[in-house]
Amino acid sequence: MALRLFNTMSSRIEEFHPLRDHEVRMYACGPTVYNYGHIGNFRTFVAVDLLRRVFRQSGYTVRHVMNITDVDDKIIRDAARDGISVQQYTAKSEKAFLEDSAMIAIEEPTLVRATEHIPEMAAFVAALVEKGIAYRTDDGSYYFHLAKFPQYGKLSKKDFSGMLDGARVDVDEYDKDSARDFALWKAPKPGEASWDTAIGPGRPGWHLECSVMSMEELGETFDLHAGGEDLIFPHHENEIAQSESLTGKPFSHFWFHARFLLVEGEKMSKSLGNFFTLRDLVLKGHKPSSIRYLLTSVPYRTQLNFTFDGLKQAAVSVERLRNFRVRLTTGNFAQGASAEMQSLAAQTIDRMKSALDDDLNTAQAQAAIFEMVRQANATFDTGGIKKDDVPPLLAALTRFDEIFAVLDDDDGPKMKRVFDWAISESREKDISDELRAAIQAGQLSDADIEVKIAAMKTARAARDFKASDAIRAELADAGILVEITKDGIRWRRK
Ligand code: AMP
Ligand code: ZN
Repeated sequence: MALRLFNTMSSRIEEFHPLRDHEVRMYACGPTVYNYGHIGNFRTFVAVDLLRRVFRQSGYTVRHVMNITDVDDKIIRDAARDGISVQQYTAKSEKAFLEDSAMIAIEEPTLVRATEHIPEMAAFVAALVEKGIAYRTDDGSYYFHLAKFPQYGKLSKKDFSGMLDGARVDVDEYDKDSARDFALWKAPKPGEASWDTAIGPGRPGWHLECSVMSMEELGETFDLHAGGEDLIFPHHENEIAQSESLTGKPFSHFWFHARFLLVEGEKMSKSLGNFFTLRDLVLKGHKPSSIRYLLTSVPYRTQLNFTFDGLKQAAVSVERLRNFRVRLTTGNFAQGASAEMQSLAAQTIDRMKSALDDDLNTAQAQAAIFEMVRQANATFDTGGIKKDDVPPLLAALTRFDEIFAVLDDDDGPKMKRVFDWAISESREKDISDELRAAIQAGQLSDADIEVKIAAMKTARAARDFKASDAIRAELADAGILVEITKDGIRWRRK
């Protein structure tokens, strides 16, 4: 059965087939890099990562492009306030975003940055002017003439028939009632970053950035465009208006939107004290794998209520899966195969596939693997698992992990990096006792280190420098500095 996905454009679940054989071209709206991403942002980014992995498991190659919005109203305002350039302002946040994404096992998409595509954006505006769809105002800004695109509202299903022709809005985000001709290009303002281009000085509006970069990377029509539900209007509506009125072709075939995340039943906000970045959670002692697991445990179109109880439960679930894998890889099994275990593994793979094919029903896919673990553990206890059952059971776990990515236990080094970051940012007071304890527990004893150093020596004696370097890197991740001198190998803790 083919993969079925909800398409916001048609408001129904449709079979997904890429426009080109075997290749999916997808674009996801990325972060506006002006501070650390919060767990709501990462709910959407994890949903998109999961989708990409499901596409791959379905046999497609995936071209996944994401923008980094490094010029927009908020960035310009805050960079001007701090008296630094837009690039200086955003560099730190972009780095943090990429580190955080890697921390929760998000595979890196092809990244495109708004500031690296300014001339193309100006050319896009010029082409819209040429077609009579955009116009210039006296201050040198350019607006999209909404009345020229009668299908405006087709994605968000809003009716704009009574709209006032010619009224304008120049902020990037606005609500339905103020839907007006929107700014494509904004004339320079004192103290704001601007670029000299063929259409005059200024800077692009946010919506234009995504239209230009997505079509440049993926073509005028591509398979799927993704983001959080708040982007449906006006952002995606405006992207459609700009792109389709220029090319006369459909822009994206599918529109994929993740529902917003709530924290303990409420909208996340700084004033309620329920606003968390990923690093905040790790500082409290939570593992990155628990966070990823929790973020994937509720299907993307269902509201996810993030709770600390849920996070603890997620940690237990991940532990259970990891322990089961250790049991399989280290146990002693009698020769032979059990028909029951063989069919359990095969059925689990089928159940996971049907669940994910059903508009990414991650909750059911997780339920399927836990049912397998429950039954296999019970069989294990009675000696019923045979040697030839191990590979298919492991294969089911691997298939699960190709999507959920929580089985490899790399939480320790990741948590240590957040710990080191907190120290470097003078945020020591935010480091919880739980995080300190987790790091200590994960630290290698002197005896552990000596064993690894001995293995390095053996590898070097056999001139296997690759193996020696791998051990050295592993030790470095655990905070151990290794020095190779002519007198031998020495180590010390960082
Ligand atoms: P931003 O950096 O604000 O442009 O947002 C980056 C992504 O996070 C967008 O796709 C938003 O739709 C999404 N997003 C923002 N807040 C939440 C939330 N509470 N839950 C889920 N997604 C969110
Ligand atoms: Zn976008």
